[in-house]
Amino acid sequence: MENKGLLFIPDISGFTRFVNEIEIEHSRHIIQQLLELLINANQSGLEVSEVEGDAILFYKFGSPPELEVLYKQVEKMFRAFHQYLISYDNRKICQCKACISAVDLTLKVITHYGEFTPLSVQQFNKLIGRDVIVAHQLLKNDIAQHEYWLVTKTLDSDPAKLRPWMQWNTSSKETESGKISFSYAQLGPLKNDIPKPSIELELSKKIKVLSVSRDYAVTIKTLCYTVVHFEFRHLWHGRIKLIDEVEHFLPGIGSRHRHVLNTGKTEMMYISSFIYDPEGKTIFSETNEKDKTTTCFIAQKINEIQRNRRKICNHIFYLRFIFEHQHIIGFSFKSKLRFYIKCIH
Ligand SMILES: [Zn+2]
Repeated sequence: MENKGLLFIPDISGFTRFVNEIEIEHSRHIIQQLLELLINANQSGLEVSEVEGDAILFYKFGSPPELEVLYKQVEKMFRAFHQYLISYDNRKICQCKACISAVDLTLKVITHYGEFTPLSVQQFNKLIGRDVIVAHQLLKNDIAQHEYWLVTKTLDSDPAKLRPWMQWNTSSKETESGKISFSYAQLGPLKNDIPKPSIELELSKKIKVLSVSRDYAVTIKTLCYTVVHFEFRHLWHGRIKLIDEVEHFLPGIGSRHRHVLNTGKTEMMYISSFIYDPEGKTIFSETNEKDKTTTCFIAQKINEIQRNRRKICNHIFYLRFIFEHQHIIGFSFKSKLRFYIKCIH
């Protein structure tokens, strides 16, 4: 029994190969967050053998676990995985392909019971044995969708009794150790009752006190990219020297950062709203944590007549970039207004 145990492999798929440096960096960060989250969702005493690209090899020596315990583990990881992605999709501001497509990532879980032994070489630990190979070969199969739980017959009980909503199918795979029979069920229905985060738009509670606009002949992506990436802010915003203390690697609604002003003063800000609508209005706003004043950047596509130009390139949108400064009602803003007018002219 001492060389027998459970092999448990959650595997993430869905990202295509990115070529753009930012997309590669962001996709790596998202996968890293998800892998950490899967490790933290371990509630059944699984050990981590290693992280293998977008998958984790968990194991646990001993007699075969009850399927109910395994199901609860699979469910916990699956829900945590999609809860994170839904939440990120709702608060993200980056519009790169990796960030946009993250919500479509999928998770499958392979569970197999068999023989294996740990091998330690210097500080590295590895699992070896024919069933480790089998479990990995099971990752490549003919199952059409990518969100399922696969249980091999080695776990020796009937998964059909687990939950009424689960629809089990059976199949088999030829491996180096012979034909392995397994059951699998789609996990997609578990996503249905994951609550969507409510994002309250603060702007509706505020009044506009100043609005200034300027037109740019650039794509909406360029304008949006310039505004939401803090490392460029000092290049176009006359009041700000730099932005630091950025709370998250991928900032989103609710995340904090600090403005260091040219005067030497600092102010803690948080992203209070973001709506990306390239054909309508794209809105990005930041709110001062202390006095609750909000600066709102609105990018709006304008047409040829509005622009009053004779020629317009097909592939370039003319965008009207509107700066708005907003306050909660009754707030005194004179000094801030003076700074603000200085910075946008
Ligand atoms: Zn991104």
